[in-house]
Parts: sequence; C-alpha cells; structure tokens
Amino acid sequence: MKIVEIRDQIVPIRSEIRNSFIDFSEMTVSAVAVITDVLRDGQPVIGFGFNSNGRYAQSGILRERIIPRILKASPESVLSDNGQNLDPVKIWQIVMTNEKPGGHGDRSVAVGTLDMAIWDAVAKIEEKPLYQLLAERYGKETADPEVRVYAAGGYYYPGKGISALQKEIQDYLDLGYQDVKIKIGGASLEEDLRRIEAILDIVGKGRCLAVDANGRFDKETALHYAEALNPLDLKWYEEPGDPQDFELLAEVAKASKIPIATGENLFSIQDSNNLIRYGGLSPFRDVLQMDPSLGYGLTEYLRILNMLHQHDWPWKQCVPHGGHQFALHIAAGLGLGGNESYPGVFQPFGGFADNVPVEQSRVKIPDAPGIGIELKSELMKVYLDLIS
Ligand code: MG
Repeated sequence: MKIVEIRDQIVPIRSEIRNSFIDFSEMTVSAVAVITDVLRDGQPVIGFGFNSNGRYAQSGILRERIIPRILKASPESVLSDNGQNLDPVKIWQIVMTNEKPGGHGDRSVAVGTLDMAIWDAVAKIEEKPLYQLLAERYGKETADPEVRVYAAGGYYYPGKGISALQKEIQDYLDLGYQDVKIKIGGASLEEDLRRIEAILDIVGKGRCLAVDANGRFDKETALHYAEALNPLDLKWYEEPGDPQDFELLAEVAKASKIPIATGENLFSIQDSNNLIRYGGLSPFRDVLQMDPSLGYGLTEYLRILNMLHQHDWPWKQCVPHGGHQFALHIAAGLGLGGNESYPGVFQPFGGFADNVPVEQSRVKIPDAPGIGIELKSELMKVYLDLIS
C-alpha cells in the first residue's frame, strides 16, 4: 500500500464575531486530503484533515515542506511494521526532518492538519471509528462514544447587547447544552460583570458558565478580574494573560478560587511541559485545553498525555479547544473530560455529525470509520471539491 497523492486547499471560515484579541473576518483554514491506494468498498481510502479555528491556513508550509517530504519518502518508510497500515509516528518524524526545535506556531498547525488526515486514513483502513482505534491502542478504559460538550459562544458582535447575548445562550440551552462559555476582556470589567450576571440568570448556577479572556490581560488586570470572579463560583476562568506568561498564570491561579483553564495556544510537548512545571496549576482543579489539530496533531498530543500522566495529571482534566470531530474522537477514545463545541459558528468545520442531537450536554459519536467527516454534509462538500 502507499500514499498516492496529497492535496490541500484554503477554505474561508470568516465570521463577524470577535473575542478580546482578534476578529474572525479574514479567518481561513487548510483542508487536506491524503489519497491512498487502499480500497474499501471499491473506493480508495482518503484521509481528511483541517486545522481548527483561530490560526490561518498553512498552504505554504504544507506545499513547500510537509507534503513533499512524505511524497519523497520511500513507500515502506511510512507504513506500520506489519505493512498493513500507515504509521502516524513514522510519518510525523519524516515531515519534521530538517526542522529545528522551538518556534512552534504555524508549522505545528501545518503538521497537525496533515496528522489529522493520516489518523483519519489509519482508522478507515482498520474500518473503525477513530475513538475505538484509540481506545484499543492507548486507552485506559473501555471507549465511551458519548462525550460531554459545552457551547462556546458569547462573542462580541458589532452592536450586540445583553439581551442578544442572553438569547444566544438560551438557544444553546434549547439545543441540549447545559454548560456554556462567554468571552470577557473585550469590554470593561463592569460591562463584563453585567454580561456574566445576565447569563447566570439563564443557566442557573455558576458551575455551568465559563469565561474566556483569550490572553488579553496584563497581570494587574488579570488579578483584578480573578478577584471579581471569585464569588461567582464559575466553571472556569480561561486564558487570563499571554499563553506563555507562566509567572502571570501562576499568580492568577493562586489568587483564583475558581478553576483556571488554558493551553489552546500551546502547540508542543515542550510548551505543555513548561505549563505544567511553571504555570502553578492544580491537577485536581484546573483544565488543559491543548488542541491536537493546532499542535502537531494527535501524534504530539499522545506525547503530551504521556507527560501529563508522569506528572499525575488525570486525563479527565483535558478538555480540548476547537469544537471539531477530531478532538471529539480523542476525548471519547482516551477518556478526556470533554470537548469544546461552537454551535452555529466556524462552519462548516466546527461541530459534529449531522442530525446528532446534544442531550444533557452530551454528544454521541456515530459508528462510521475514521473521524466521520463524511457524516457532516456541508464539511464533506469541501472535500468532494478537493478530491474531484
Ligand atoms: Mg479560548
């Protein structure tokens, strides 16, 4: 067996929404298709991947470095030891040849996008949903196809007031979500507290509402917010300061009475290890949100999980960023604490299979091979276009 061709294209996911740091009006995504010569039901197995929202398409790195390295490698060098499937770890090492350490960023997004497509192909060749394959290879317990999800929204839109925010959150509850998240830091503390109180009126208790500052605050402001949030018993306070300012994070974690969540902008095992060493977080309270699609893929995420295990962090404390099917499978197969979800935004990449309801804030993964991109019709249109 061999990889016959790898295609990529840039797809817009622009939206008028904004968090405290960026607007998404020019956001793009790379979609990748890895075409193999393996046949299932008479059709070639094709693995599909994409990068999740918040980072831009990576076509340059993919076309100039990552894809050519795989296509130049000998066909046997990308296969598992028994030659029956692709080997994501061997492929990962090939694509990272001649790449210096450090400087994780756009490169980690390009590799993560490709890695998702490889894992999708691997599971399809084994004719299993990815979560089941992961549970068999790496899981600690029997796979549970149901994953707890929370609705991430509460963005700042032009002209959006409190009542529109309340309506948005009520819509999530009506869809079956119990836990929700809203943005903070894009308005004054007083205005953000009004927004939070307005949502607490709807969700009923603090533990159902998380807030996300998207790394906006300096230390003084982050501590000021921590103090203001402490009495509210919220689900978590996310990314108070710059994602790599571990001193700031440690001070905020110490001052905060509610859990701290972070990690979506840390893209490597090395950065994740530094977070655990120096971020002042507690494995019994705080939440890790590393996104396998942005951070060198599932192959690197498995290294991160191993590192967490060595530091006595339960995998239940991991709730990946991104709201995509890839992380949903990883959460199900490896027993993570849940997954993010973006009802209605970042389409067609955000969200899960069509016609699968959210019930009591849980989503059940259908029993299709791979990640199940074929079950999300608007997303599948992107790939039908790419492979036609
Ligand atoms: Mg966030």
